[in-house]
Order: sequence, then C-alpha cells, then structure tokens
Amino acid sequence: MPNKYGFQFDNTYLTLPNVFYTQMNPTPVSKPELVLLNSPLVTSLELNDVIKNDAALLFSGHMIPEGACPFAQAYAGHQFGHFTMLGDGRAHVLGEHITPDGQRVDIQFKGSGRTPYSRQGDGRASFGPMLREYIMSEAMHSLGIPTTRSLAVVKTGEDVFRETVLPGAILTRVATSHIRVGSFEFAASNGDQSLVERLLNYTVERHMPDIMGSENLAVDFLKAVMNQQADLMVHWMRVGFIHGVMNTDNMAISGETIDYGPCAFMDNYDPATVFSSIDRMGRYAFANQPKIAQWNLARLAESLLPLMDQHQDKAIQLAKEVIEEFPSLYNDRWLHMMKCKLGLFGEEPEDDSLISNLLDWMKKNHMDYTNTFLDLSQEVPPAGKPYQTEEFRGWHADLKRRYQKNQRSIKESMALMTQYNPKVIPRNHHVEGALDEALNGNLTRFKALLNVLSNPYEASPHLNEYQSPPAPSDRVYQTFCGT
Ligand code: AMP
Ligand code: MG
Repeated sequence: MPNKYGFQFDNTYLTLPNVFYTQMNPTPVSKPELVLLNSPLVTSLELNDVIKNDAALLFSGHMIPEGACPFAQAYAGHQFGHFTMLGDGRAHVLGEHITPDGQRVDIQFKGSGRTPYSRQGDGRASFGPMLREYIMSEAMHSLGIPTTRSLAVVKTGEDVFRETVLPGAILTRVATSHIRVGSFEFAASNGDQSLVERLLNYTVERHMPDIMGSENLAVDFLKAVMNQQADLMVHWMRVGFIHGVMNTDNMAISGETIDYGPCAFMDNYDPATVFSSIDRMGRYAFANQPKIAQWNLARLAESLLPLMDQHQDKAIQLAKEVIEEFPSLYNDRWLHMMKCKLGLFGEEPEDDSLISNLLDWMKKNHMDYTNTFLDLSQEVPPAGKPYQTEEFRGWHADLKRRYQKNQRSIKESMALMTQYNPKVIPRNHHVEGALDEALNGNLTRFKALLNVLSNPYEASPHLNEYQSPPAPSDRVYQTFCGT
C-alpha cells in the first residue's frame, strides 16, 4: 500500500551485506523552507498532491515518510585517476519508490547531513549548486538524455561555510539507482569476491534482468554497461555537454547522467573545452569524455575479473576483448548521430570527411556548436557573415551533393535534423545569471529558463532570448563545484 503521499517504498538495497551501507536518518535542519517542487515529476512518479503541504518537512528529512528506511551508501572511486574510499558523505537514500506502473526509483537527499563516509566534509550542500543540479538535470531530461531527475529543493535555514558563508539547501534526487562503477570498486577493494558477486547479482536483477542466467554473467554485464555508456557519451557529444567530473564514483551503472557539479554546455565548438575549475589538466575536456568512459569501464572490468574466470590470465583476456571494442562501438554510433545532425541518410564514403571538415571549420572560426547546426537545418543556405567564405561555400556545396545521394526529400532531412539538434541548451551565461538572481531571492528568471529548457526541440515564444551565445563580457570561463 502506498503511504499518504503516494510513496510505495521498497528497500531491496538493504538486502545486500551491510558493508554496502549505513542505515541512518538525515540530520534535521533548523528552518526548512520549500523552494522548488517538480510538479511534472510528482505526477509522473504518481505521488499524491498532498505532498505539497508537507514538502518542506519531507524533503529536508525532518519527517521520514512511512515505509522509508534511510541509509547512506558505501562506495569507492577513482578521482582524477586516483583510487579513494568515498561513500555518501552528504547523502541519504530514503528508499526505492515503486510507481503504480512498476518503475523502481531511488529517492535520495543530497546535503542532508554527515554520515560515516563524510571524511572532512560537513555533510551539507549550498543553495546555488543544488539549484544548478536541478536545472541541469531537468534540461538533460528534456533533451531526451538519460539522467537522474530533481524532485525538490529545500533551503535549510542554516549557513554552510565554504570560501564564503552560503545558504544551505537539500536537493531530492530521483535515480533508477545510485549504483556506480565505484560501488563495484568498493566491493572488490574488500578482497572478498563474494561481495562483488552479491553486488553483481543484485545489479543485474535490478537493471538488466534479460542477462540473468547468462553463461558468463560478469562479461555480459560489462558489455551491457559499456553499451549504455557508449550511448550516453554519444548523447553528451550531440548536445555539447561537458560533465566536468567523470570520476568513477560519478558514473552510474544505469547509464544515467549523474552528479551534476561543475558541468556545462559548450558554446563555440572546441574539443578541448573545459569549464570545471577543479579539472586543471583537462582530463575531462569535451572530446576526452568517450576515452574517459572507456577508462572508467576498465576500472569496472578490473573489479569483476575474479568473476570472469578463475584463471587471472584468461579473465584479463576476456575483459580486454570487451573493453577494446568500445572505440568502434562508440565511433559507429557517433558517426550515425552526426549524420542525423546533418540530415544525412544512408552511408557514403565521404561522410567521415564531410563531418570532420565541418568540425575543423567550426573550431577555426569559433562557431557556436548548437546554433551552427540550427543554421544548417534551414532549407535556405545559412546567411550570417561567417558563412560567406570560400571555405564554407565549398563545404556547403559538398553537403548539397551529399543530399542528392540521400534518396529522400529535403523535408525528411530537415525533420531528422530537428530531432537531433536542440534549439536551446542551458548556456552558462543564462544559467549563472538565473542562479545569481535566485540567490538574491528572485526565482523568476530561473523558472523562465527552466520553462524554455523543458521543450528544447520546438519553437516557443521566448526561445530567442536564450539562444544567443554569450557576449564576450558575459562569457563564463570556469564553473565551480561549490560543494
Ligand atoms: P562529488 O564531487 O559530489 O562526487 O563528491 C565526492 C565525494 O565527496 C562523495 O563521497 C561525496 O559524498 C563527498 N562530499 C562532497 N561534499 C561533501 C560535504 N560537504 N560533506 C561530506 N562529504 C562530501
Ligand atoms: Mg559524486
């Protein structure tokens, strides 16, 4: 039976051995105040409308709803290449909510107090970064990209101390699970193979029941995770998303984008784009993301080795064969995606060079990634000044020649491009501007931006206010975790 808020909790994660978690409640806060509640998500999770009346108490962890069994997860991870023991240092999973149509989702608080995994941290989060995660994750969802969702933001009424004193807040996050590559690294680091096996069986049952009973479960699991990560990377590259902190603890086994810190969308096309202030070496730069995904998958594979084969050599061989497939798997899908962005059907030998010539030209001319594809999605040739060069005209003539091989109408090409090219993305200067005003108590701009981002592939009345790249004075060069 669902409780009065419509939550129907199940707590299967707690059937795992207890090294995987610590059962504990969030730490209550002094003055919880609801700032945002995601009504469409409330509806799609089939929660009850009365939730609105108690939202501040519920989404601050003051009131634990019936059936919930809060806990913090243990996990490890490679952070910027270095192995570390981590865990939910400021998060609590309330439980798994089962919707009436049978979806299972974790309801998790972020910023809800200290846990045994907090290390030096205070267990809290500040308001700005929680609003940032809310708007970025919801924008990704509307872009059709697998992601965790954001259900609510509550201000705690307490200060958090970072470089400056900031208002505290708690985000309620919804995810198909919070099992990460780092969860497997944690299990393996205990040196007890049965822990990895338990986690593997649990994860397969929860996320990929179709491979249950397979001959080599660990190998098939790795393949399945890799498949989803390849798709996710193609999505990120399609819209110009840069995660910023692709540590293995921030890579979800479900294939959802998770842990929005200093992430950002690229304006002008440059494969070396980095925004995150903590990514000083550019490890997680735009074009590196697929390679990092593969690196992270190799860490997952290492954790699974003893389950792949009892002979280590054979296990390594099996793992290598899977991981080495990633580049071709990814490249084929990336090429297909880029062809769709250009409205190309079929396969022609010149496709590769047509795409790379465009990208080279875009890079050289600092062309906006999103808007260039929109300009190309018109039936008339693009008119702006950068398009009036010999080089571009030559490329565009090649494109038109290629369209003739499509054997489809130009209308069909345009329709394909509309599906693959968003008209609007959460550009940094707009996100930062909206957050500044929200931090000063005015959510009007934040909500307007959220609204425009909720329908990114269609024309809407206020779209053009949010489409322009930043003026040089508005350009955001760095984004901060501000954790
Ligand atoms: P993240 O960069 O958000 O992926 O966090 C990395 C690790 O640091 C995770 O284990 C977090 O739980 C932990 N962490 C981040 N901020 C805090 C904080 N303020 N208090 C305690 N733990 C934190
Ligand atoms: Mg994290």
